[in-house]
Amino acid sequence: DAYLAAIDAANPQLNAYVTVTHDKARQMAATSDERLARGEAGALEGIPLGIKDLFATEGVHTQACSHILDSFLPRYESTVTANLWADGAVMLGKLNMDEFAMGSSNETSYYGPVKNPWRAKGSNLDLVPGGSSGGSAAAVSAFLCAGATATDTGGSIRQPAAFTGTVGIKPTYGRCSRWGTVAFASSLDQAGPIARDVRDAAILLRSMASVDPKDTTSVDHPVPDYEASIGGSIKGMKIGVPKEYRVDNMPEEIEALWQKGIDWMRDAGAEIVDISLPHTKYALPAYYIVAPAEASSNLARYDGVRYGLRQSGGDILGMYEKTRASGFGREVKRRVMIGTYVLSAGYYDAYYVRAQKVRTLIKKDFEDAFAAGIDTILTPATPSAAFGIADQDMAADPVKMYLNDIFTVTVNMAGLPGIAVPAGLDGRGLPLGLQLIGKPFDEETLFRTGHVIE
Ligand code: GLN
Repeated sequence: DAYLAAIDAANPQLNAYVTVTHDKARQMAATSDERLARGEAGALEGIPLGIKDLFATEGVHTQACSHILDSFLPRYESTVTANLWADGAVMLGKLNMDEFAMGSSNETSYYGPVKNPWRAKGSNLDLVPGGSSGGSAAAVSAFLCAGATATDTGGSIRQPAAFTGTVGIKPTYGRCSRWGTVAFASSLDQAGPIARDVRDAAILLRSMASVDPKDTTSVDHPVPDYEASIGGSIKGMKIGVPKEYRVDNMPEEIEALWQKGIDWMRDAGAEIVDISLPHTKYALPAYYIVAPAEASSNLARYDGVRYGLRQSGGDILGMYEKTRASGFGREVKRRVMIGTYVLSAGYYDAYYVRAQKVRTLIKKDFEDAFAAGIDTILTPATPSAAFGIADQDMAADPVKMYLNDIFTVTVNMAGLPGIAVPAGLDGRGLPLGLQLIGKPFDEETLFRTGHVIE
């Protein structure tokens, strides 16, 4: 009730939730009370969570914040949310996000932008919470849920976490089932939690993760007790600092934050090693070929027949055209156009195949670093703090918006786990985050090391 009251009071301002499931929340909480009374509590019994609108929730609107999924009511539950409910968690509602998870500011949502609960000192300017999981990050940061689900295709858990002073982890590709999660770029998409601290993130990920016969890319690898890794020493650990992440025009504050992180690691007994990930500079352009290519294919299913919105347009082709023209927003259309272009005969080899080769090289850079004995890699999470809603520069140039993902996309291209942990405030009092990148299925090292930063 306290969380629902907080949502009702703050959401008209923040716009973090697109659906609040008052009745369902109370029902689930009552069931939790009964289970607690019987001494049958699950790991998350009674814990109120917000769910990104990308996860299918049975009987509860699931629209990926797109007009084209208007009034879509799934008859099934995503595996990740089913795992959370099985452990006793309570659903508060569905969280705002960029349309189909395409964006870095939450401004592409059909339901309008989310406001970051943080503002710069002495300023009235409303800031973005980052994206695409902007609603998840804002809701956690503003105490409108105890934790939230999110997804990360190219940074959408870690960048919003960094912009809102929360913790976000994208686990190894295959750690969580993608079943029942609206697909954006299937070879990159991965679910994970956004939480108030590293311990909460560890507890949530343990419940979310599972191998699932309904997603053949989920991996049968034991899910450890992540919480147990927190508080352990990082003495003797080798922490890589990649020189290629020192990008041009990096603000001094980000540089200083990174140095602070390096000092903390050293003080905790870790060994700092300068490393090179030579193909880093190709990651962003390659990502913005691979992700739209997969998106254009995944979004072909929204044809006005099977889901949500349908506009009449004379014959069937007219219906397809009218439905897709009015149902998709500008950014989604841009991705579909880029994707179909790079997959078309004549351009396929020059763009798509080449981007896939670059992807292999990026993956190999990380493999080489880990093979040389590096345990985890420390970088900034984002190239800046949160920026203003309707930022003129970003609106005028989509590539400027894409540059927000410069430190995060490499991790998705390589399928590795990455965590963003709040590490301090900039001169204006806005949160900044550091990122740790780990070996495949070594989320434990990220929790252990992340806890040293927070
Ligand atoms: N900002 C990136 C994009 O727009 C990443 C989005 C995501 O991780 N879902 O594609």
